[in-house]
Amino acid sequence: STPVSMVSGITAAARQGILIKGSDYLETVGKARTVVFDKTGTLTTGRLEVAAVLASDDTGEEEVLKTAAALEARSAHPIAAAIMERARTAGVAAGPVEGFVAVPGAGVRGVVGSRECALGNRRLFPDMSTGEWEKKARNLEGRGLTVVFVGVGGRVVGLIGLMDAIREDAARTVADLRAQGIRTVMLTGDNEEVAAAVAGRLGIDEYQAALLPVDKMQVVEDLTARLGPVVMVGDGVNDAPALARADVGVAMGAIGSDIAIETADIVLMNDQVGGISTLMTLSKKTMRVVR
Ligand code: ADP
Ligand code: MG
Repeated sequence: STPVSMVSGITAAARQGILIKGSDYLETVGKARTVVFDKTGTLTTGRLEVAAVLASDDTGEEEVLKTAAALEARSAHPIAAAIMERARTAGVAAGPVEGFVAVPGAGVRGVVGSRECALGNRRLFPDMSTGEWEKKARNLEGRGLTVVFVGVGGRVVGLIGLMDAIREDAARTVADLRAQGIRTVMLTGDNEEVAAAVAGRLGIDEYQAALLPVDKMQVVEDLTARLGPVVMVGDGVNDAPALARADVGVAMGAIGSDIAIETADIVLMNDQVGGISTLMTLSKKTMRVVR
């Protein structure tokens, strides 16, 4: 049976908006020496904003936005929400898309106005050179923006730069964990430049960029083999397999996907990433009482 102090630990957590689905998880949290964070939606708000739209002369910004909106109308990614919002405020109507496909960790594809279109990162354009756009893209990335390329009929015609705000309590949480001797790791499908900028600002110990969902899961597995129990915090967008693989999977409850909330071991109902250091403290306190 579950000791009384465990129950009170779970109750105390619940009062702070932290839903723990079993006493084992509370115990394991306190044993973990490594906390892995997903970037987008977890350390950042995941509410991106379009900060730049660049277009080739023969295409124009409006056309780039129109194509992007047509593709993103069918996607649930935070990047899609940002692009739809920009299209809405710019008064650009998204046309229909056929044969829509989402490529995890890369972007989206579909036929818009009888032309093959694509929107996403470099991974989505393997045999299409982003050549002439590379300089512009790197310039935006150097400023910490996430860049996606817009391809029409086999040619890149523009790019969109997006900004994502770091969560208010993210830096404090990372510092808190470090003070408790815990190693912090950040995983992201985003590019190296953006990852370096965010990790640097937060004081994260280790990060890995340009990861596919399956890569994130592999990293969690490797860290577990190397360092023992791992707690993973994510929003369930492209990190569900990693969340499931971690000894304790913690989901962001408010912006998190339904599937993440359902399969997670612990849910941060208010999306306060600081809940993870609250959990650590609570776990150690509870276990001291139990022993
Ligand atoms: P993170 O690991 O930071 O949560 P994701 O794995 O969700 O990032 O996405 C990784 C990258 O894949 C994004 O930064 C973007 O370049 C690309 N991508 C994924 N989905 C989309 C989409 N719907 N539209 C545009 N780009 C996308
Ligand atoms: Mg994510």
